[in-house]
Amino acid sequence: MSLFESPLFKDAFEQLEIAAATMDLDPNILDRLKYPKRALQVAVPIRLDDGTVKTFMGYRVQHNMTIGPGKGGIRYHPKVDLSETAALAMLMTFKCALVGLPLGGAKGGIQVDPNELSRQELQALTRRYATEINMIIGPNIDIPAPDIGTDGQTMAWFMDTYSQIKGYTVPGVVTGKPIGIGGSLGRAEATGKGVAYCVNFACKKLGRTVKGSTVAIHGFGKVGAPAAEDLGEQGALIVAISDVSGAIYNKDGLDVEACVEWVKNRNYLKDMKGDHKMISNDELLALDIDILIPAAIDGVVTKDNCHTVKAKIIAEGANGPLTIDAIEHLTKQGAFIIPDILCNAGGVIVSYFEWVQGLQNFFWDLDRINKTLHDILEESFEVVCEAADHYKVDMKKAAMIGALKRLEKAMRLRGLFPA
Ligand code: NAD
Repeated sequence: MSLFESPLFKDAFEQLEIAAATMDLDPNILDRLKYPKRALQVAVPIRLDDGTVKTFMGYRVQHNMTIGPGKGGIRYHPKVDLSETAALAMLMTFKCALVGLPLGGAKGGIQVDPNELSRQELQALTRRYATEINMIIGPNIDIPAPDIGTDGQTMAWFMDTYSQIKGYTVPGVVTGKPIGIGGSLGRAEATGKGVAYCVNFACKKLGRTVKGSTVAIHGFGKVGAPAAEDLGEQGALIVAISDVSGAIYNKDGLDVEACVEWVKNRNYLKDMKGDHKMISNDELLALDIDILIPAAIDGVVTKDNCHTVKAKIIAEGANGPLTIDAIEHLTKQGAFIIPDILCNAGGVIVSYFEWVQGLQNFFWDLDRINKTLHDILEESFEVVCEAADHYKVDMKKAAMIGALKRLEKAMRLRGLFPA
């Protein structure tokens, strides 16, 4: 697949072009933003537990680093390819710019199903991948973090491998590390907490309350689970959650803590016993609820199924879970959509705090982290709402315009090399 072929890349590209036309972006700036700055494809061979060798394809793409070092997660998923990685890197550029971080956009991944590998095999895979891409990453160049299929342990192996290559400890090369090796308080739940903050801002804007709202969460992972916990604590009723195996539903609300415990031990929801019934992922998306949080993968709500969605607020916890067609349709139907580059920015914001803390060797307490996260997201939410009002566009386009305004300013100031 070429760089520009995946549905996610086409979608990101289209979003960029529409926002650029709406805000009258300098065409020279637009031209530069269409292409990733650098894309590396690597073979990652490892010895499996049975003694055979298997080679996986890995990628790291840096989209734009005008404002600062590249920042973006590493994904382990069978669908990972160069084009999807490039699209996600582009979205990271816009996300960092929108929320005002001094960082650029990057993304990485390996085409693999991590559930099929043992812990030892995953460690070998991570260490070999880190070795293969080490020449284009570093605390001042590009700083990876966890994404689908990776976690704090993955980051610890990655940081250790990079440090072995350098000959000294480099905590700032990744974020999302465990606390014991320089991770930040609040990072693990930051993306989900940020989603919950954004849901609160949206409820306030619409004159609704989180308390008593019914919520369904598509994808009960590192983003979906903490968002459920946070909203549940505020009195929302979490009526349905799902994973790749299917969804569970109880109209009176699920026992979120029991669900968190269940998935923590790498169990599928389809095998969970309790006071709920099994439904499909498609049925979850179509539930008659107040708030829908798609927090699994991209392209979940499309022009084919958007007419089934009934939620009044849709918070894009995942990257690109709604296609442009779906967003246009649902906005016309009166749904309020919190776009991904705002809604799930909590992770990269606290990653930024982790990076800053690591560079300064001075660590903040959780209250300071959560308060600063809240304030940055609240300000960014306002920026998006103002752009939506000013340009008379949906929240998705408005978020892109907010990001492009900051990027345009920075790119103009730096100019083009060579002049
Ligand atoms: P994760 O691997 O922890 O969880 C993903 C969840 O989605 C799991 O429950 C998985 O079973 C489920 N899932 C996967 N494929 C599915 C499918 N086809 N149908 C239904 N469910 C499916 O991943 P995560 O870190 O929570 O990331 C989820 C999304 O959020 C991704 O789009 C990711 O890029 C985005 N995101 C993550 C972070 C972060 O900090 N982890 C930050 C920003 C954005």
